[in-house]
Amino acid sequence: SKPLLQVSNLNKHFPVRSSFGRTKGQVKAVNGVSFDIHQGQTFGLVGESGCGKSTLGRSILRLVEPTSGAAFYEGTDILGLSKKELRSYRQHMQMVFQDPYTSLDPRKRIGYSIEEPLLIHKKGNKRDRTETAMSLLRKVGFSEEHYERFPHEFSGGQRQRLGIAKALALGPKLIICDEPVSALDVSIQSQVINLLEEVQEELGISYLFIAHDLSVVRHIADGIGVMYLGEMVEQGPAEALFAEPLHPYTKSLLSAVPIPNPRAKRERVVLSGEIPSPLHPPAGCVFHTRCPYVMETCRQVVPQKRFVAPDREVQCHLYDE
Ligand code: SF4
Ligand code: MG
Repeated sequence: SKPLLQVSNLNKHFPVRSSFGRTKGQVKAVNGVSFDIHQGQTFGLVGESGCGKSTLGRSILRLVEPTSGAAFYEGTDILGLSKKELRSYRQHMQMVFQDPYTSLDPRKRIGYSIEEPLLIHKKGNKRDRTETAMSLLRKVGFSEEHYERFPHEFSGGQRQRLGIAKALALGPKLIICDEPVSALDVSIQSQVINLLEEVQEELGISYLFIAHDLSVVRHIADGIGVMYLGEMVEQGPAEALFAEPLHPYTKSLLSAVPIPNPRAKRERVVLSGEIPSPLHPPAGCVFHTRCPYVMETCRQVVPQKRFVAPDREVQCHLYDE
């Protein structure tokens, strides 16, 4: 089947100005990224903060305007839509944020916040909207009596469930979840992830699930992409990527994740140094300043993306022919 979302060679480059307003350079926040998401599936996007994963998520919804590339939603390039066309597409694509206060106005009652997208898109009358909000409250584990409450009356995990209810109001097919559990305790994280999975099972929604930690996406993701300094350095099916990570950066991220089967051998890769400034990315392979496998060619030549299996892509000279 055709993918629901097909992102192709997406770029978002920000000009950076000096204090005198002269252009000093550019940050390639997203650099030539491609991936697909099929209906009812989850693509996990992983990398350290500042690697461009949030910018990528926002570019797909055009909350930031990409510099170039394409993002086909059911065959239509979202990046080519006029502002007016984009408005109706937005109904199909929603976002869940790390901080639920981004979507829940602290001064408004919960019921109003959940209904708000319906009001904005002129869906139904007041009674219909209230009914939808009530049923969404039940779906995320609350009852109708919570309709009149305010966000501060809920815990962080509860507010995230309410943020999910709001994201569901328009019946989207794709939800971009931008680190939805990063601010929550580990015990609460799994509740929110379970809720997202239940909703996916029931409604066939697709997720782009952004996280800085591979262990968070382990169970929910069907496919995983790993980003470093704006580049998608590896992607593939979740199981295969966990069983046999290819890129040294992926290996290092996995070294931090506990192994369920302690007898399974896994190479431990520990990184030295810090992420370089995105304003001055290293020449050649962007990862070469931290890579334990670095070779002379890595410092000069940008590695090409290669398929080492039909569905496993990696950008690293270790896989050159
Ligand atoms: Fe490491 Fe070289 Fe591969 Fe980059 S291309 S990840 S520096 S081995
Ligand atoms: Mg799933």
